[in-house]
Amino acid sequence: MTLNVIINGGGIGGLTAALACSKKGFSVSAHEQADGFFEVGAGLQISPNASRVLGDLGLVDELAKRSFTPKALEMRIGSTGRLIFSIPMGDTAIRRYGAPYYHIHRADLIEMLLSALEGYDQISLKTGSRAIGYRQAPDSITLIRENGDELATGDVLVGADGIKSVVRQQILGDTPAQFTRNVAWRAVARATPELRQLIPPVATVWTGDKRHAVTYYLRGGELINFVGVVEEDSWTDEGWSQPGDLQELASHFSAYSSPVRTLIDSLDQCFKWALHTRPPFARWSAGRATLLGDAAHPMLPFQAQGAAQAIEDATVLARMLDGREDVSVESRLKTYQANRLPRASKIQSASHANMSVFHKGTGLNAALTYGPMAIAARAMPDFVASRQDWIYSFVA
Ligand SMILES: Cc1cc2nc3c(=O)[nH]c(=O)nc-3n(C[C@H](O)[C@H](O)[C@H](O)COP(=O)(O)OP(=O)(O)OC[C@H]3O[C@@H](n4cnc5c(N)ncnc54)[C@H](O)[C@@H]3O)c2cc1C
Repeated sequence: MTLNVIINGGGIGGLTAALACSKKGFSVSAHEQADGFFEVGAGLQISPNASRVLGDLGLVDELAKRSFTPKALEMRIGSTGRLIFSIPMGDTAIRRYGAPYYHIHRADLIEMLLSALEGYDQISLKTGSRAIGYRQAPDSITLIRENGDELATGDVLVGADGIKSVVRQQILGDTPAQFTRNVAWRAVARATPELRQLIPPVATVWTGDKRHAVTYYLRGGELINFVGVVEEDSWTDEGWSQPGDLQELASHFSAYSSPVRTLIDSLDQCFKWALHTRPPFARWSAGRATLLGDAAHPMLPFQAQGAAQAIEDATVLARMLDGREDVSVESRLKTYQANRLPRASKIQSASHANMSVFHKGTGLNAALTYGPMAIAARAMPDFVASRQDWIYSFVA
């Protein structure tokens, strides 16, 4: 059945949904409020559960060409650099999870999705197109702009409009966010020869006292992505992103070992982003409207799964919409929700649970947490690796 799918939001989730729906032969009308399809200048870890989906959407070669393949996922004590555990990735990820683990620059992924969409005629991508909500009729749904005018009318509306989704606001009403007292500092560094000597070619979580850092390479090793998460008391708006002060960032990580300090010293700029949380929602759909990505399951970045889950949502949504003619759009969206909500909610909770694990410092608390982890990693490496199987081996 040919459907007219309206997508509100042109981030990674919205564009992946546009591609998955286009591949099913649906016509797609996608609306992005910004004047272009921009992404924050930062990296993304694309775990096998998501790289499998992107591969199935035809991006295998481009992904391999434009990403970096980490040799492992590691956790280290930030102040000493001592290894807590290392889970092999690289070829091992392909053998174990059936697809590669990649690191990619967000802008590169957006560019890949846009260029894949060029192959389809039945797609309209509109920028500078900000929606404020929708109107439903028995056999259609209309996305509307601020003055009440129509942006698009179709069979189904997908709210892929991020943490402050207007589509979610209409489906669920207010869903207040809570500040986690964690602020993420994000930056990308050039991988100089000095940094290449210091930063291992893996994704590393550097633990600390009320803070942690994450480092990994992008673009075949040309760039290094840095995320520093620091506990702060001051309240900031959700999604508030602004240039950060490099000296302040350096002071937060002054007790860290030289890889992290040298990386911070090499930066030209950084940005801050206040991390908020919401509990999982009870439903994502109302009639012909549904949600996807951060709009459906805003999550903390401590499992590196927000975009991965948006990518999983996109392929499942397209498959569920491609249902039997005698099944209504509303029922197809209910099936999509039933298929996706439990898994995304479980990952939301797992991400939240990781928040405190990385921030144990170096004292007794740290010894009690990281000691058993290190022992288990040495004694039962396969068991430690297997704890990620439910996330990475999943076939959406
Ligand atoms: C520090 C940090 C690190 C992270 N690292 C990872 C990682 O390694 N791996 C991973 O998988 N995830 C990671 N994430 C999570 C990931 O960034 C998000 O989950 C993902 O980008 C969500 O994509 P989305 O398309 O759902 O939403 P968004 O990227 O927010 O896109 C929503 C789009 O909708 C548009 N929009 C909003 N409102 C409207 C409107 N009213 N009308 C029209 N358009 C609108 C916005 O402009 C935006 O372009 C991280 C997050 C953070 C904060």
